[in-house]
Amino acid sequence: RTVYVNGQYLPETEATVSIFDRGFLMADGVYEVTSVLQGKLIDFDGHLARLERSLTELDMQKPDAFDDLVEIHRELVRVNQIDEGLVYLQVTRGSDGDRDFVFPDPETTKPTLVLFTQSKPGMADSPAAKKGNKIISIDDIRWGRRDIKTVQLLYPSMGKMMAKAAGCDDAWLVEDGHVTEGTSNNAYIVKGNKIITRGLSNDILHGITRAAVLRFAREAQMEVEERLFTIDEAKQADEAFTTSASAFVMPVVEIDGVVLGDGTPGKVARRLREIYLEESLKSAI
Ligand code: PLP
Repeated sequence: RTVYVNGQYLPETEATVSIFDRGFLMADGVYEVTSVLQGKLIDFDGHLARLERSLTELDMQKPDAFDDLVEIHRELVRVNQIDEGLVYLQVTRGSDGDRDFVFPDPETTKPTLVLFTQSKPGMADSPAAKKGNKIISIDDIRWGRRDIKTVQLLYPSMGKMMAKAAGCDDAWLVEDGHVTEGTSNNAYIVKGNKIITRGLSNDILHGITRAAVLRFAREAQMEVEERLFTIDEAKQADEAFTTSASAFVMPVVEIDGVVLGDGTPGKVARRLREIYLEESLKSAI
């Protein structure tokens, strides 16, 4: 696999980053994941805009190659022959060759930019989406700026492990009784034909797939309500699902052992998955 590091395309075995990099020492970095379908980038403009916002919120410089990011994504997709898969991008604050809580001088320390691809054949026609996910709920003990897409992923990763240990696929995070989001996705319930999801704030990541799915839902005259919902309300819902760039629309069929509906993916979630896959390809680049 060819990867990109700070201006260079290299074989993955030759790509290196300093051990003093603040991404490595302090999780001082942000990332984006863009999906690739039919060799094209899905929702790329949204991911680029959110990257810029994450950098601004953390007072981090844009990498020099910021304006070339679409070309870099495309080149990696091309050389690695990605038909279906992902492009992962990470920017960290870099390093001035030592460890210090104080940020390094941005005049002399450049951010580190890394991109690589992951090939995922069968991502669109996913067996998991046909079965639906079983989820557990766990406490949301993350920090208060979940709107910034940082690389601090230890707790979400532990949440996934807790789900696996419980024989489930993923976890939903709960704060003050209300669902915030999934470990790596936004969370929704469906009551009747109404799609309910938490509104945007610093408490959740502003999902790029969320924005697109809600737009498509409204265009298809489906009812959308952005409000808090509790985990108990979710267990009584007709359907549930999650959205993310890597799994699109993923039905949820069980929450904490409570089966939703007949235990198979609901019709709203299935329809939204279809609409998203079809519509997002039209604007793919
Ligand atoms: N929420 C969290 C915590 C995430 O990590 C992610 C994606 O990684 C999402 C939501 C979904 O965001 P997007 O649709 O932009 O992939």
